[in-house]
Amino acid sequence: MTGPVYRRVMLKLSGEAFAGTSSFGIDPQVVDYIAEEIHEVYELGVQVAVVVGGGNIFRGLAASSRGMDRASADYMGMLATVLNALALQDSLEKIGVFTRVQTAIEMREVAEPYIRRKAIRHLEKGRVVIFAAGTGNPFFTTDTTASLRAMEIGAEVILKATKVDGIYESDPMVNKKAKKFDELTYFDVLKKQLKVMDATAISLCMDHRIPIIVFNLKRKGNIKRAVLGEKVGTKVRG
Ligand code: UDP
Repeated sequence: MTGPVYRRVMLKLSGEAFAGTSSFGIDPQVVDYIAEEIHEVYELGVQVAVVVGGGNIFRGLAASSRGMDRASADYMGMLATVLNALALQDSLEKIGVFTRVQTAIEMREVAEPYIRRKAIRHLEKGRVVIFAAGTGNPFFTTDTTASLRAMEIGAEVILKATKVDGIYESDPMVNKKAKKFDELTYFDVLKKQLKVMDATAISLCMDHRIPIIVFNLKRKGNIKRAVLGEKVGTKVRG
């Protein structure tokens, strides 16, 4: 067996992943499953950073379309990601994975504030770093956070976990015949308006040449396969 092809990776988990089969909240069993998947990669000696979403609890855009002030709603969305971060931390530490949660919105009793150099130090010491509260700014997404933090900490790849097997020409949940792409360029994704990550997140990756691998989290061992350089999902690059 060959070793990992990446030394430091950024894993993006959407809030949806934490809810499991229900559409809302946190399913502890599902979080334990995700923790196990991360554990496998951690055991290979790969440095793992994680950005968690919050869509299973609160989405700023959805609330603002129902009349809430967008910035206030977005701050609520960012706080929602902290709940997911703490749930993941708990599951990881239960199975012996050392972790730190860093939040972009300070709450000292709960987590460390985001400090780039400290995050890198944690990774070097073999701790999984979970980034919570997005970028700390409204009008952004946790996908953009993943791109931004990946650049800041020098991650070599973004592993974007989803509920489908990769990027399709149209939604495979709706169109069963939709074609899956094995590889795409950032420009293809932007031009075809494929729903992978928002345009800000893709543009950041494009400008800084960080590849993105979009894969199905529900298939056991997929994170490890991606890290070992095996073909999983769809790869987006320049
Ligand atoms: N959010 C924000 N700024 C950020 C990241 C997130 O305002 O930098 C808010 C936004 O309201 C978003 C919510 O947090 O709807 C949850 O994040 P996101 O929708 O990206 O989570 P996911 O879709 O990955 O579950």
